[in-house]
Amino acid sequence: MKAVCWWGKGKVRVVDVPDPKILNPRDAIVRVTLTAICGSDLHLYDGYVPTMMKGDILGHEFMGEVVEVGSEVKNLRAGDRVIVPFPIACGGCFFCKEKMWAACDNTNPNAWMVEALMGFSGAGMYGYSHMYGGYAGGQAEYVRVPFADVNPTKIENGIPDEKVVFLTDILPTGYMAAENCGIQPGDTVAVWGCGPVGQFAILSSWMLGAARVIAIDRVPERLRLAQRDGRTEILNYEEAGDVFEALKELTGGRGPDRCIDAVGMEGHGHTVDAVLDRVKQAMKLTFDRAHSLRQAIHCCRKGGTVSIPGVYAGFIDKVPFGTAFGKGLTLKMGQTHVHNYTRMLLEKIERGELDPSYIITHRVRLDDAPQMYETFRDKENDCIKVVMNPAA
Ligand code: NAD
Ligand code: ZN
Repeated sequence: MKAVCWWGKGKVRVVDVPDPKILNPRDAIVRVTLTAICGSDLHLYDGYVPTMMKGDILGHEFMGEVVEVGSEVKNLRAGDRVIVPFPIACGGCFFCKEKMWAACDNTNPNAWMVEALMGFSGAGMYGYSHMYGGYAGGQAEYVRVPFADVNPTKIENGIPDEKVVFLTDILPTGYMAAENCGIQPGDTVAVWGCGPVGQFAILSSWMLGAARVIAIDRVPERLRLAQRDGRTEILNYEEAGDVFEALKELTGGRGPDRCIDAVGMEGHGHTVDAVLDRVKQAMKLTFDRAHSLRQAIHCCRKGGTVSIPGVYAGFIDKVPFGTAFGKGLTLKMGQTHVHNYTRMLLEKIERGELDPSYIITHRVRLDDAPQMYETFRDKENDCIKVVMNPAA
């Protein structure tokens, strides 16, 4: 089959590889009908996540048709259409029972690698390095889905792929980011980053009852997309100058009640901390450029919440922890427990209340992946979200 493979920093190739096979009785094989490139894939592409190996198949946002199931998968059969959440959960461990699927204790066979760095490991993930299990990803014609009796959700009623594919990651991620804010009536939510995750965090903040939402980025078409609902306010940080002062002004001197960092480890900025991060990251002295995280903590009002869906990987310095303490902030973060949100969000899509496909700007073939990774990273061509159809 054809698959999109990591080939080193800044290099992606489409390669012919062996078809996946059922390895365990709880596996299924899925023929991928739609897959997407995620901002998280850029962290791999840019070489900031350790333990990637040349030839690893990328992709954790994918859906398709079941073609084969192992003997213990009773809930699915060949021909079923499914979406597959990016964290692989076993369904039986302490964390799965507590509905913390992304913290599953059983699905990362290389947990020791993460434990060496972080003490404990989260769940295995598709196409996301050997330290997260070395699972082949879904930017391919076929993919092996482990624990298929637990993870996939069936899609019925012929809803188009484009409307449901983001249930695998970014739509629940935006939703959990907003939910983690604990939004109260009257709250102002500020969202750093208007990539796909930021867009869905904005959407979800409105769904959860925000009174105002302020979107921060510098890419004009992304800010425009955030504004399409006619009520999200925007702040172009390159034009605004001092984001702290701008947010203070917009909130009557108090600061936003809830702050969402939907940027993560490749934050951009011109201030001293941002320049230092860039140098240290280039010298491999740090994994993360945490400018937006520092800014969110600094800008948040006293007693507010900073929710962090953006991915961070390592030991970050100059994070104003004393500020977080001094203001009594609540910080919430982490990989999304996707499974908790799929049913509820799917029902909204089925009822026609929600159509997440509005963020798609590029519809391409797997063969276009090398160019599309570059285009998405560089935000060329007004690129906001790329979906790939392996059959095209
Ligand atoms: P993206 O790269 O498309 O978007 C990031 C956006 O942040 C860009 O529009 C960029 O211009 C903007 N940005 C950069 N520096 C900024 C700054 N200082 N202030 C404001 N905006 C700034 O990525 P995405 O797909 O939207 O993903 C965003 C983050 O969410 C990534 O770190 C990704 O890994 C993470 N993510 C996390 C989960 C999870 O489970 N928690 C799931 C999916 C993605
Ligand atoms: Zn993703």
